[in-house]
Amino acid sequence: MSFLVQHVIPHDHHLRKMEPLLEDHPILEDTELPMCFACGVDLEAGDVITLVPVGPGPDTTEQKRASSHQWFAACAVPVHWVCATGEEP
Ligand SMILES: [Zn+2]
Repeated sequence: MSFLVQHVIPHDHHLRKMEPLLEDHPILEDTELPMCFACGVDLEAGDVITLVPVGPGPDTTEQKRASSHQWFAACAVPVHWVCATGEEP
């Protein structure tokens, strides 16, 4: 797996630290989102993650909102908190 890399300033966007994942959290059951998209390690119960927005996705209404600099509903991927921020949770 390879990643596109973009240089960013830490905390130039607002990430929300989620509570540690519970055993029955739906994200652990999702066949497309079982891993941290920064390190590629499978997510497990107890992991502290954040959701990193990647853009409006294919929804044209959300694309129009994004392109006109309005708040929009973003597609997001799960990333360990430490992988997203460098901070231990
Ligand atoms: Zn990670």
